[in-house]
Amino acid sequence: TDHTPNSWDARADAHSFYGFTDLPTIHERGTVVLTHGDGPYIFDVEGKKYLDANSGLWNMVAGFNHPGLTEAAKAQYDKFPGYHAFFGRMTDQTVMLSEKLIEVSPFQTGKVFYTNSGSEANDTLVKMLWFLARAEGKPERRKILTRMNGYHGVTAVSASMTGKPYNALFGLPFDGFIHLTCPHFWREGMAGESEAQFTSRLAHELEDVIRREGAETIAGFVAEPVIGAGGVIPPPAGYFQAIQAVLAKHNIPLIADEVICGFGRTGNVWGAQTYDFVPDAIISSKALTAGYFPMGAVILGPDLADRLQVASEMVEEFPHGFTASGHPVGCAIALKSIDIILNDGLLDAVRDLTPRFESGLAELAQHPHIGEARSKGLMGALEAVADKPTKAPFAADLSVSERIANACTDNGLICRPLGQAIVLCPPFIMTDAQMDEMFDKLHTALGQVFADIT
Ligand code: PLP
Repeated sequence: TDHTPNSWDARADAHSFYGFTDLPTIHERGTVVLTHGDGPYIFDVEGKKYLDANSGLWNMVAGFNHPGLTEAAKAQYDKFPGYHAFFGRMTDQTVMLSEKLIEVSPFQTGKVFYTNSGSEANDTLVKMLWFLARAEGKPERRKILTRMNGYHGVTAVSASMTGKPYNALFGLPFDGFIHLTCPHFWREGMAGESEAQFTSRLAHELEDVIRREGAETIAGFVAEPVIGAGGVIPPPAGYFQAIQAVLAKHNIPLIADEVICGFGRTGNVWGAQTYDFVPDAIISSKALTAGYFPMGAVILGPDLADRLQVASEMVEEFPHGFTASGHPVGCAIALKSIDIILNDGLLDAVRDLTPRFESGLAELAQHPHIGEARSKGLMGALEAVADKPTKAPFAADLSVSERIANACTDNGLICRPLGQAIVLCPPFIMTDAQMDEMFDKLHTALGQVFADIT
């Protein structure tokens, strides 16, 4: 990378903050400043081409220049480039998107509230639960249950839901956000414990926490069907059935954070479908607009929707909303994106590509320093270990996964280090040949990095 004073790299570093970026590494390696995309590829200012195996941040599922999506955006910009959904007004696009979202949801009836991001959708959901609790005369019903390693966003409430140690740097979580055990059998399962025993232990843990805290103090349990930014962690078989049975006994709603899983990633429209449960509400974002517009949605099923309606009427309004909630361009893009995914073969493509994806991961898991390959649909991870039999991790200061990701970047492949894992989340438009390119480049990088270390 060109580090000279007027380079893009220097200019990026001078006046922009990065999110979640290892700054010493970036100061050494330089910023990748991007100009455009084509299919699953992105291009930097120097013309270098990268295959983006992460679909941006899990969101660009239709690639970077899908003509249907850019045309839908242009047409709506020409017609009505922006309006809100306050004071009894909303656009025709917003009305149509809500109808579509309920139609494709697991709910017979329900209602949708729009935000600009997944974080805001989680904050909105929690504020809905808190508002409901007070309106229903149960102001103590405020606690939110989530899991360690679950990721729900960065705003103060969604960060409190997130089960990552870095939130302590902000003095978070807020009181009343309780994190249960991460359902990662490979890492959290005890010696001699079967997967079924592990699942049952987690259900008992939930039961114990509810009894300890008091069921009447708990507003909801929020979970990603497959934990994403916590390292791609598909739950063990029967997990959601066991958890939901406990929650149902105590009348606690189960909310599926489908920000990554929703709209096809796991091979069905919803991750909840893949794991065969019906939640009480769904949080959606990312693939909702195929990443072509910042938008999130809280989709309430019939019970929560009806109760929120009653509570809002009681106090006249639900005093919450964002300037761009239900933005007509975002809604027009989402309508097109849903159509492309459901009716234009993208969901089928996920199903068709999944066996190749799984076998590619399984092949790389043969490597002596890959401890686990895990995936669901087109989201997957390879976990690096220093010692395969004991699952002992590499020393953190070796930055193994970062080195693998950096070697991939040098070689024209974007993939993401998360803890000691390398995460892959390819766009649904990938061809078999591009999938081969992805695994070939990753194979090369693993060889290079492990040869250096061991
Ligand atoms: N929930 C999940 C499951 C996510 O993966 C993310 C982002 O990665 C979020 C919420 C937060 O979404 P956003 O980054 O749009 O605020």
